[in-house]
Amino acid sequence: MKNYVIIGNGIAAAGCIEGIRSVDKESPITVVSEEKHEVYCRPLISYYLEGKTDLDRMRYRGADFYEKNGCSVLYGVKAEHILADTKEVALSDGRKLPYDALTLAAGSSPFVPPFAGLELVKSRHSFMTLDDALGLEQAITPDSRVLIVGAGLIGLKCAEGLHGRVAEITVCDLADRVLSSILDEECAYRMQKCLEEQGIRFFLGDSASRFDEHHAFMRSGAIVGFDVLVLAVGVRANTGLFREIGGNVNRGILVDERMQTSVPGIFAAGDCAEGLDISCGTKRVLAILPNAYMQGHAAGANMAGGNEIFDKGIPMNSIGFFGLHAMTAGSYDGEVYEEKTEKSLKRLFTKDDRLLGFILIGCEERAGIYTSLIREKTPLSSLNFDLLKKGATTLAFSPETRRKKFGGAV
Ligand SMILES: Cc1cc2nc3c(=O)[nH]c(=O)nc-3n(C[C@H](O)[C@H](O)[C@H](O)COP(=O)(O)OP(=O)(O)OC[C@H]3O[C@@H](n4cnc5c(N)ncnc54)[C@H](O)[C@@H]3O)c2cc1C
Repeated sequence: MKNYVIIGNGIAAAGCIEGIRSVDKESPITVVSEEKHEVYCRPLISYYLEGKTDLDRMRYRGADFYEKNGCSVLYGVKAEHILADTKEVALSDGRKLPYDALTLAAGSSPFVPPFAGLELVKSRHSFMTLDDALGLEQAITPDSRVLIVGAGLIGLKCAEGLHGRVAEITVCDLADRVLSSILDEECAYRMQKCLEEQGIRFFLGDSASRFDEHHAFMRSGAIVGFDVLVLAVGVRANTGLFREIGGNVNRGILVDERMQTSVPGIFAAGDCAEGLDISCGTKRVLAILPNAYMQGHAAGANMAGGNEIFDKGIPMNSIGFFGLHAMTAGSYDGEVYEEKTEKSLKRLFTKDDRLLGFILIGCEERAGIYTSLIREKTPLSSLNFDLLKKGATTLAFSPETRRKKFGGAV
């Protein structure tokens, strides 16, 4: 019997639990959960605000998940230190939790820049957790003017969630475009236009230089009045516990393809970990839900003595705002194939006989085929890429590959 401990109770932890149980059905698992909720789908918090889902439907697993998997969860308890010499985790309630194998699945935390006057703002929020969404819901009224600092995924998701529930939404970002980490200028502009058509106002290439309780004084000289402020500037991987014991950390906790960290017996997975991005061959934090689950599963299987490799990590996003859908994946390097209409835009990036990345906006495509070409590093010369460029169809593959990969589907 082994004692398994997981720090964090998000998607990576759920993957980790299922990974452990794929190898070891018996040994006890203890999950340390700072949040007081069972694992839920974090991306749904904006849909909750919009009223499109409820707390029950936000569950990531069934109500009997922990019991079925023989886990005890310590809710509302924080892991404060790892005591690597004695193999224990020191908890915020004063207890020490012994472990034989440990996975850090601690996610990330919002980064708050030192804005002058921020302490004067009473209604100040982040938008990362279910409690953030519940707190924001309490703070708004139909007359609220909301300022969101940050036009990345989290800021825009928040804007969409609040749309229709408040009087005014303004979004500002130092970057000159929305979703600057995943969209180029032209694609970002299409997204911005779509959001503006819904009445969301943007200040881009501009940000607050200081605040008072109800005003942001922008670098450009503009003054934006607000009742509720949301800070969605960025996130940082929760690496502190591991850094403290001298483990190897870059932007995230460095892991190999078995999710093993630099310290034997300690694994890391999800938003706190930095693993290989196979689309560009470098290590990055790939802060998306599917990676968190798959990394967590590998960490769990390996902490239980299995040998599971996760070598399929790529950045990918599938997001839609007010009916305009964008899917992106991989890296935007190499030659570009482009198709554009007024309503849609497709860019495929190829290099050395491989598809490296894509951006699809307003396209109704089976993007999964493109994603799988990136993940599998499929040589483009082995299929009819000219056909595939026009539309993600399985017909571009040889009959033999179609049979193997898609069960003969055409
Ligand atoms: C608004 C929003 C929208 C998103 N939309 C998408 C999307 O559309 N598609 C997509 O793929 N991804 C999306 N993501 C990202 C996705 O939700 C994350 O990549 C994923 O949830 C990461 O899972 P995780 O388990 O690594 O971390 P988390 O879900 O962050 O879980 C980590 C948990 O660890 C806990 N914890 C941290 N430190 C400690 C400690 N010391 N002791 C105890 N507990 C601790 C935290 O409280 C947290 O509950 C979105 C994220 C947000 C916030």
